[in-house]
Amino acid sequence: MAEFAHVIIDISHEKVDRPFTYRIPEHLKDQVHAGCLVDVPFGKGNRVRSGYVVDLSDQAGYEPSKIKGIAGIHAGSVSAESQLIQVAWWMKERYGATMNQALKTVLPVKQQIRQVNRRFLRCLLPPDDLKKEMEIAVRKGYKARERLLGALAHTPVIPYDMAVSQLNLSPSSIRPLAEQGVIAIDSEFIYRNPAQGFLAEGEEGSPAITLNDQQQAAISQICGQYDAGIRKTYLIHGITGSGKTEIYMELIDHVRSKGKQVILLIPEISLTYQTMMRFCRRFGSQVSFINSKLSAGEKYDQFERARKGEIQIMIGPRSALFTPFKQLGLIIIDEEHEGAYKSELTPRYHARETAQYRASLCQASVVLGSATPSVESYSKAESGLYGYFRITRRAKANSVLPQVQVVDMRRELKEGNRSVFSRKLQHRIEETLKRREQVILFLNRRGYSQFLSCRSCGDAIKCPHCDVTLTLHQNHRLVCHYCGYQIPRPKECPSCQSPYLAPFGTGTEKIEAMVREAFPGAGVLRMDLDTTSKKGGHEEILAAFGSHKADILIGTQMIVKGHDFPAVTLVGILAADLSLYAPDYRCGERTFQLLTQAAGRAGRDERPGEVIIQTYSPDHYCIQAAAAQDYEGFYQKEIAYRKLLGYPPASVLMTLTVSSLEEPMAEKAMGMIGLWMKEFMAQDELASRLQLIGPVNAPIYKLNDIYRKILYMKCNNCAIISGEDGGQWSPYRMLTAVRRRLEERWKTAGAGGTVSLLFDFP
Ligand code: ADP
Ligand code: ZN
Ligand code: ZN
Repeated sequence: MAEFAHVIIDISHEKVDRPFTYRIPEHLKDQVHAGCLVDVPFGKGNRVRSGYVVDLSDQAGYEPSKIKGIAGIHAGSVSAESQLIQVAWWMKERYGATMNQALKTVLPVKQQIRQVNRRFLRCLLPPDDLKKEMEIAVRKGYKARERLLGALAHTPVIPYDMAVSQLNLSPSSIRPLAEQGVIAIDSEFIYRNPAQGFLAEGEEGSPAITLNDQQQAAISQICGQYDAGIRKTYLIHGITGSGKTEIYMELIDHVRSKGKQVILLIPEISLTYQTMMRFCRRFGSQVSFINSKLSAGEKYDQFERARKGEIQIMIGPRSALFTPFKQLGLIIIDEEHEGAYKSELTPRYHARETAQYRASLCQASVVLGSATPSVESYSKAESGLYGYFRITRRAKANSVLPQVQVVDMRRELKEGNRSVFSRKLQHRIEETLKRREQVILFLNRRGYSQFLSCRSCGDAIKCPHCDVTLTLHQNHRLVCHYCGYQIPRPKECPSCQSPYLAPFGTGTEKIEAMVREAFPGAGVLRMDLDTTSKKGGHEEILAAFGSHKADILIGTQMIVKGHDFPAVTLVGILAADLSLYAPDYRCGERTFQLLTQAAGRAGRDERPGEVIIQTYSPDHYCIQAAAAQDYEGFYQKEIAYRKLLGYPPASVLMTLTVSSLEEPMAEKAMGMIGLWMKEFMAQDELASRLQLIGPVNAPIYKLNDIYRKILYMKCNNCAIISGEDGGQWSPYRMLTAVRRRLEERWKTAGAGGTVSLLFDFP
């Protein structure tokens, strides 16, 4: 039993740094835990104040006799704050962070709540006139004006800021519209509410559609169990367009009718706009959102509104999980397989796990939705741990799945075709263009880029700070995609001075050039990191393609997510196998997900779609399963492979990364840790079940001039890492022990320099 508790008196961001230590009196020992609200004597006069326990400890840290005792537990202390502090404590243990880092993740930045002067754009035209204005804008090629009018057709009032940031308009393109009487620019003193613009009067209400039997089955079972007091996690497995979002809205309606609140997580900032439109239409002013485009103040205000009960539904990325709802009843995670749900900042939490923990604290259920569930979630559904619903049909009548064909690129080469387009794809593109329909060309370039290498000595030109090749850009510069380092394209090899440097690999820019050459009449757009880096770049390209300003869209992973283009009837997937050979046990899963999603872009409307997958590995099970759109087939092969090699979910995999600016330092520290881990495993029963692999160099060994070594730890007994049995080991405790031992030995060895340690579940 811990002797001391760390208590924060006031939850504001600045003061989280300063917890005060109190003694836990004997009679309160089994009641004091992280998150609980306690009364403590504070300051010189020992005035009783309340504060939150953030952590427990066996050590006082300073003179124990000077430490005051906790006076009592504050009555009725299950507030949103206490819940979130408990979540932070769990995150600290589970993901090996400090309590301070965890608290900063779950508690939003407190800022002075200001009344802000906001401006709105309000449409003054009746719908018919608006349509005419729109036609004029299209005819004259006023793109910015067209975007704004299009948005106003949906929502008659739009916040000025949003028009600027999300629709990418400039004040000079807005002003003339106001002068012509098309719009009014209103000023209003408001409580900061970014959702304001989505709210249209009198639109709230039930959907006009009739749910199909598969949708109905999921809804009635989940609601029935909810009413019976059963709380669990459900997986809704349905292809895009199968009506999952309609299911979510019904579930939200039900949970709302019980007076509970809901959090909906979405993986991509670019999906905010369309999601908010739909949810506001259904739930009106009960809905708000957060995302990274909001200022800290705006985000804080949304959390504040949630805490006060002014809103009931929060939509946002993984950090929306920490919305301080008092009566949270449901957490929905859309596209649950997405990598964006895992944080790459300490604590490196996964939103899925963290959602389940938070739900367990407040009797909420969790609903996961995906067209291609993660292997982790599907295996839990298969074993009965999660409720499972399969939606097999597209919701809209006449919308059918596309035809998929695999083309063997080795054969193309053998038969003399050296182009990146197979003969079949070439032919189909021509046909599609003739029918005046649209084409998407998807270049799978995860972990891959175009680089320069020397034909004489074979060296590739690398970043001097990172262990990766520099990427060649059209402007003849070489750029590091990890640290931003760039140089002009060299004339000769830096190693052997040979002039024979040649580019390898194919980037989106190069594909664009080849497409323009092969299909000279076609309008081409390209969407990748470079073309979307400026604000609103995304929306601009998608809007242009959506309104058929171009015939062919070339892009990377970012085009496959959630966007609907009814006129796209052909999707070509170039280099489908590039992501299959990444140094990551999930690469097969990621490839399958990408290909399935890319294929799902074809034929969303009534016209049938066709997909052509070009690959050098036509027999690989991921490619075959993606072509057959056979998730179960993919899963059976994948889980067999994971079991064979002991990868998650067949075991728990953790990494301990040691990094240092000096290579020998990293090596030395890792050596010490390896030795100590072995000693520790020999002594401890639970730890003896750990299996160590490595240490090895990180896949990118040097990054930003920092050297990184990784020790893998595998374990098929989760108790040791989850700390769930109230057990003695959690990643946090293990990391703390490793760090302490390392510091001791570091001193005895008289070594200087610094190394840092990082825990992760890759
Ligand atoms: P998902 O979330 O699975 O991609 P959505 O819920 O967005 O699917 O549904 C796709 C489209 O089909 C939407 O336009 C939606 O309004 C429509 N839809 C959903 N369910 C039905 C239904 N039962 N009948 C008719 N249309 C539906
Ligand atoms: Zn050379
Ligand atoms: Zn670099």
